[in-house]
Amino acid sequence: MKPKLKQVSFSKCWYCESKEIRADKAVDHFRPKSAVFESPSHKGYWWLAFDWRNFRYSCQYCNEYRIDAVSGATGGKATRFPLFDERGRQTVPGSLSSERPLLLDPVVRNDVKLLTFYADGMARPRESNKRLRNYRRAKISIELYNLNQSDLQDLRRALFHQVTERVQDGDVYYSEHSGGSTSAKTGFTRVVKELHEMIDQKSSYSMAARAALKSYKKRPWIRDILASK
Ligand SMILES: [Zn+2]
Repeated sequence: MKPKLKQVSFSKCWYCESKEIRADKAVDHFRPKSAVFESPSHKGYWWLAFDWRNFRYSCQYCNEYRIDAVSGATGGKATRFPLFDERGRQTVPGSLSSERPLLLDPVVRNDVKLLTFYADGMARPRESNKRLRNYRRAKISIELYNLNQSDLQDLRRALFHQVTERVQDGDVYYSEHSGGSTSAKTGFTRVVKELHEMIDQKSSYSMAARAALKSYKKRPWIRDILASK
């Protein structure tokens, strides 16, 4: 099961998008299998222990309780599985439709869109209204998946910087190319290819790279890159 999970997640942790640097890849149970922090009497979702639909390919930073060596902040999912309303919590095998999980599920396309990233390297909720459900979901997920661990912030900050450099190079090539230079055309093609690779799902932190590129979307050539798949 693990090699298959690795393949469908492009060898990236499903939560933080890291490839090798957070190492020790493991399979996380989205619903914890042996205990639930929010519900002390709960025995865990033991019946989902071997259900592939409950598996997420995850690094240990996202999956286990950790303390950030730099900031001292705590995070990591461990047995956390908060719901909007505890009364809907399922304690025995059966339909899970009564549960409304607070944690974002990285395999749900719309959930992933509730996060965004900034040039300071931080992950933040896309929704700014703190009273709204989407804000709360993103906020607690950032905390429990350790998404603002200091190493991750550094990597994202560097990535924003790399995107900016490519965009600046691209601007120069673009205007020279418009003036008829063939070497500028080659340079421009290279920059576009590199930016495509950075926002490709297969690349580490592609969501952060996409957020960085979006800040330049006034340029038509950037809009073309963002629009392509
Ligand atoms: Zn991770």
